[in-house]
Amino acid sequence: MMEKNKNRVIRLDGFRKTSFFTKVERGGKAYPTNSGVNFPPIQMALESRLIIQMKKFTKLTSLFLLALLVFLQSCTDTGNSASAKKAAGTALENTNEAFYSEADFPLVKKFNTHVHINVFDSTFIKQAASDNFRLLNVNVAAPSLPPIDKQQEVAIQLCKAFPENISYATTISVDNFNDLDWQQKTLAYLKTSFNNGAIAVKVWKNIGMDLKDRNGKFVMIDNPAFDPIINFIEKNDITLIGHLGEPRNAWLPVEQMTVSGDKKYFAAHPQYHMYLHKEYPSYEDQVNARDHMLEKHRNIRFVGAHLGSLEWSVDELAKRLDKFPNMAVDMAERISHFQYQAVTDWKKVHDFFIKYQDRLIYATDEGVYHKSNPAEVSRVAHENWLRHWKFFTSGEKMKVPKVEKEFDGLKLPKQVVDKIYLKNAEKWFPKITRTKN
Ligand SMILES: [Zn+2]
Repeated sequence: MMEKNKNRVIRLDGFRKTSFFTKVERGGKAYPTNSGVNFPPIQMALESRLIIQMKKFTKLTSLFLLALLVFLQSCTDTGNSASAKKAAGTALENTNEAFYSEADFPLVKKFNTHVHINVFDSTFIKQAASDNFRLLNVNVAAPSLPPIDKQQEVAIQLCKAFPENISYATTISVDNFNDLDWQQKTLAYLKTSFNNGAIAVKVWKNIGMDLKDRNGKFVMIDNPAFDPIINFIEKNDITLIGHLGEPRNAWLPVEQMTVSGDKKYFAAHPQYHMYLHKEYPSYEDQVNARDHMLEKHRNIRFVGAHLGSLEWSVDELAKRLDKFPNMAVDMAERISHFQYQAVTDWKKVHDFFIKYQDRLIYATDEGVYHKSNPAEVSRVAHENWLRHWKFFTSGEKMKVPKVEKEFDGLKLPKQVVDKIYLKNAEKWFPKITRTKN
């Protein structure tokens, strides 16, 4: 034990005092290991130290090399995985990752900025919520509907009851347009509406197609009497929605109309079938009056309802969007006109959506009225919404009730779909998500 201990002390001391490797090199001798040669004890000690040290060195070197290898490998891996991801990303962008699927429909947050709910009933709102839609409930001064102040009462109640799901757009009455205090009363009504949380004002086709001045002349939207009203809307940072004129089909005989939705509507509403009323302003008069109003009000934030009554031609619509940067359009009840044009020129419609992706707002124009069955309206609406989603997101062949022939889906990239369903509504109706407390 002592000897061992002693040896160990010696060895340790010697090892401590001398750099063994230096000694070996200096001596110029290489001591064979496992040679069977008898070395003096000190030499034996040095020999075994050499072996241990060599082993340690080998082990350390191996460990070092292994670590280096692992490090290099990980570097290579990182590089490889980054470039792999990049390559995969590019590939994915070109394939499914860039587009929504049918299954994404309820998952993507959306707006529908043109519906009419005139009764205090939650069925339709719940359907919209389950399909991930927030709604803009639009008041409208139509003779078949309740008076606008009654519509507004319901709209305010619905906003209070479902602040997460619905906003409302007020409207103006032109019943007493020829009275001296019409402007004053209209401004007061709008002020109340804005205080109650209205985020937009809708003007309707009765201006241009029904309203007459004291001389019996049709009053169009560019009439100077509307200027203070529009200025007031602009001053309050509220959006003006204009349903002005009708689809061009209204000026054609029923059998020449393009989509079946218009054929049915104008057959059922001959009072608006302008082909039958030659004394009324023409289609061009309607569009020109709207354009002239926009020329006067370059800063009003304007949303042309129903594709701004330019539904029949993406080229004509493009011209107006180019001319009026403060104009966007909602698609309410006119998506079939895009589909109709896609039958003969899919690329033109597709490219129009890409170019004007910041100016197109999804909307559908469903309504829940006193005589409606809310559950039935909701069921039909859900089906429509799914069809529209398919048209915008897929490239599949489609057939829809309002269009006679087949056409292909537009397969719009995700970012365009996000704009037409969500971002454009937020941009053109900046108060749409705000709720009056
Ligand atoms: Zn409408």
